[in-house]
Amino acid sequence: MARRTTVTTDEPTEGPGSERAEGPTGERADEPVELTAAERSHLRRAVGLAAEALAAGDEPFGSVLVGADGRSLAEDRNRVHSLDDRTRHPEFALARWAVDHLSERERAAATVFTSGEHCPMCSAAHGWAGLGRIVYAHSTAQLTEWLAAWDAPASPVRPLAIEEVLPGVPVHGPVPDLTDELRELHRRFHQRRPRS
Ligand SMILES: [Zn+2]
Repeated sequence: MARRTTVTTDEPTEGPGSERAEGPTGERADEPVELTAAERSHLRRAVGLAAEALAAGDEPFGSVLVGADGRSLAEDRNRVHSLDDRTRHPEFALARWAVDHLSERERAAATVFTSGEHCPMCSAAHGWAGLGRIVYAHSTAQLTEWLAAWDAPASPVRPLAIEEVLPGVPVHGPVPDLTDELRELHRRFHQRRPRS
């Protein structure tokens, strides 16, 4: 379960729901995460990158690194099949990019928008790189359920939520209206793969 903090929104649909009380731990029950129009745009770009990955024969995951000023700094997509390297996840690539190009302070103020919740490898890389907030569209728990329903091979890595690896980073997700779209991308990936 993702820990959620309230995100201010500039959308006109904002209602009293955003003021609903939080539990003692600050955790909110399954409420949609509210994002600003700019944040939605970054997340939508991550979904677009996931579609590009699928079109190239890779797994449908994409991520965008955004600086404190809201500008996109770097982006990447999954490349595990095209590079024949199972560690070529976009979140890991962005953590490496951030260490090479940003100061410690810039990294802490940056946000990673990603189509799918970070795996444990990427959560760890995000943490070691000292990056800030994470916004994801679908969760690892959702992906795990989908794979089981399609009889697809499970991940060899335990499907831990980001907070189980990286407790100190604000995390927002899932985002339901994008989740359905990503579920379809993953379904297409797994249903066209030859069974081994
Ligand atoms: Zn990963």
